[in-house]
Amino acid sequence: MKKAPLNKLPLTLSLPTPEVSYSKFLTASGTFRDGDLFVNKDGLRIVPQDENDHPPPIQPLDNQLTLADLDTIKVIGKGSGGIVQLVRHKWTGQFFALKIIQMNIQETVRRQIVQELKINQASQCPHVVVCYHCFYDNGVISIVLEYMDGGSLADFIKKVRRMPEPYLAAICKQVLNGMIYLHHEKHIIHRDIKPSNLLVNHRGEVKITDFGVSAVLTSTTGERDTFVGTYSYMSPERISGGSYGYKSDIWSLGIVMLECATGSFAYVPPNPEEGWTNFYELLETIVDEPAPCAPSDQFSPEFCSFISSCVQKDAKDRPSAQELREHPFIAKYDDWNIDLASYFTSVGSPLATF
Ligand code: ATP
Ligand code: MG
Repeated sequence: MKKAPLNKLPLTLSLPTPEVSYSKFLTASGTFRDGDLFVNKDGLRIVPQDENDHPPPIQPLDNQLTLADLDTIKVIGKGSGGIVQLVRHKWTGQFFALKIIQMNIQETVRRQIVQELKINQASQCPHVVVCYHCFYDNGVISIVLEYMDGGSLADFIKKVRRMPEPYLAAICKQVLNGMIYLHHEKHIIHRDIKPSNLLVNHRGEVKITDFGVSAVLTSTTGERDTFVGTYSYMSPERISGGSYGYKSDIWSLGIVMLECATGSFAYVPPNPEEGWTNFYELLETIVDEPAPCAPSDQFSPEFCSFISSCVQKDAKDRPSAQELREHPFIAKYDDWNIDLASYFTSVGSPLATF
């Protein structure tokens, strides 16, 4: 029989299996992933995928959010009640601000705070910082908040010193929209409107934070710094212990806006270099002396009138947030097309994630 030539023989070649890339099933943070299944040291989880194959972002009241899922990036702020950290959600990559408050106070007050947090969570307004979740464990309250990457107006004034009127009008419009929501829709008095509780982001948004909670906290911690920080923006009727309402927030807004415009706190201390060393003297000044006003040689009549309306000594003479929204100052620069996004980003934020 004639042999087939070697080159005609059917050869089967078996190649070594190509090395499987780890990146196919391991994420950058070391999580094993297969489709919607994720497993890592914190356990297993099914994360539903959207069409773009990214886990959907966490929504407020999302029951899947746990503290173990949040990686700490850095501390971004410190208040009288505790610290605020920038954190990142392991599964979605979303940034949040995590406020951690050590509670050294009575059980009943703690319960009250948790209760308030629940109310806050239900708040949905583009000008109020979203509270996603809160946890209470072993004396520590952790609040997961929307991250505002431009920081607070307190940080912002330190950098720019003074804010020009057209920007102030645009900022004030957003704060008033947030206040209208809190006062008229949720029937909440903020009680602690001050520069560090007005936060901004790179989209040019301004949002109110810390409503209700901080007032409960500060009234129980009693530290002097807390006292100074919060009471400086407090209306005369609150300082003197009378009954107070929504108009108390309007007073604080006026004092904050005046500070943003002039670059210094509205009440000048007897010895300006030292600041207010005698705190009770400041309180007495707020209660007994005429309210501060914007210097008419430096600011428009509309701005001066806006500030004077906010800081009427008698709360009854102050307009509501809704009425102030219609004040001529708020609309004065409407056709200037003020770009707050560029203004906030141009100053730059050490916390920027954009
Ligand atoms: P106080 O405790 O006297 O009320 P405070 O408002 O500065 O002062 P915190 O509310 O604890 O104290 O906040 C500390 C700082 O953390 C703020 O000044 C702000 O710069 C930053 N911060 C707070 N919440 C957020 C957030 N959601 N996003 C970004 N930064 C935040
Ligand atoms: Mg605050």
